[in-house]
Amino acid sequence: AKSATRFIADSNYFQRTMPKRNLDAHKGSHGKGLVIGGSDHMPGSFAMTLRAALRAGAGLITAASTEKVIDGIANLTPEAMYQTIASNDGWLTTGDLPLDGKDAVAIGIGMGRHADTAKLLQKAVNASACPLIIDGDGLYHLQNNLHLLKQRKHPTILTPHMGEMARLLQVDISELAIKPFHYAKVFAEKYNVYIVLKGRFTIITAPDGRQAVNTTGNQGLAKGGSGDVLTGIVLSMVMQPQSIFQALCNACFVHGMSADLQIASGHTYYDLLATDVIEGIAGVYRHFL
Ligand code: AMP
Ligand code: MG
Repeated sequence: AKSATRFIADSNYFQRTMPKRNLDAHKGSHGKGLVIGGSDHMPGSFAMTLRAALRAGAGLITAASTEKVIDGIANLTPEAMYQTIASNDGWLTTGDLPLDGKDAVAIGIGMGRHADTAKLLQKAVNASACPLIIDGDGLYHLQNNLHLLKQRKHPTILTPHMGEMARLLQVDISELAIKPFHYAKVFAEKYNVYIVLKGRFTIITAPDGRQAVNTTGNQGLAKGGSGDVLTGIVLSMVMQPQSIFQALCNACFVHGMSADLQIASGHTYYDLLATDVIEGIAGVYRHFL
């Protein structure tokens, strides 16, 4: 009988699987990541994803967005590199994507639902030769292009909350809430994707049907920006020398545990902000590694 295909991704798992940092490492050892997203109307979420990726340990991060977004946020995270993509009315349109030489790409954060932006999503799905993380509005643009996923030769990771997952599945959110493990598994197997189904507990599913549950995190995360921070942590983790499945489990653990430590050390469920979760990553690493 098949057993133990589901488990809790806890602190023991994190300590056992999280790669150590070598004394002779260089920035290339820790991954070259690309974040594609943002719009003139939503620059903040994009900025948080970049910063979270760097705090989580990414070696190099390139941010591709509109000229206005980059002008507005570059001084917040001077460690990142910035590249402008063409935009129309402040929304990203199809332009050249700096995909060459990247170890992982995250797309969708704060990019909006303009029809032109859907073409950029398609381009990233078709042209990226490395793990691709699709979040937020990227998932919206994906819903009519799901067939593209089956042709991908590299891992694809979707990070929907329950509403986004229900839309991808075309089922009611109330139906999804009854059988989240079932629906995540069916979808992951059908489209050959990893799914991080976010909520009070987050369910991580691999294309082969393996599943894990993350139980860290708290109601202080129930605010705009929390998911954008998770996407940055996921981007960083999938570039480290661990399996994609381990990377996703560890990313969810770090994200939730950062929020838990922030509550334990002064913040409250009321005041906690997504940016506090970014700053709390240090505490998770210090405490557990
Ligand atoms: P998003 O909806 O995309 O902003 O993502 C929200 C993030 O916060 C996900 O990682 C959720 O798992 C997490 N989150 C939101 N509410 C809670 C909660 N009540 N308990 C634990 N985690 C939560
Ligand atoms: Mg989100």
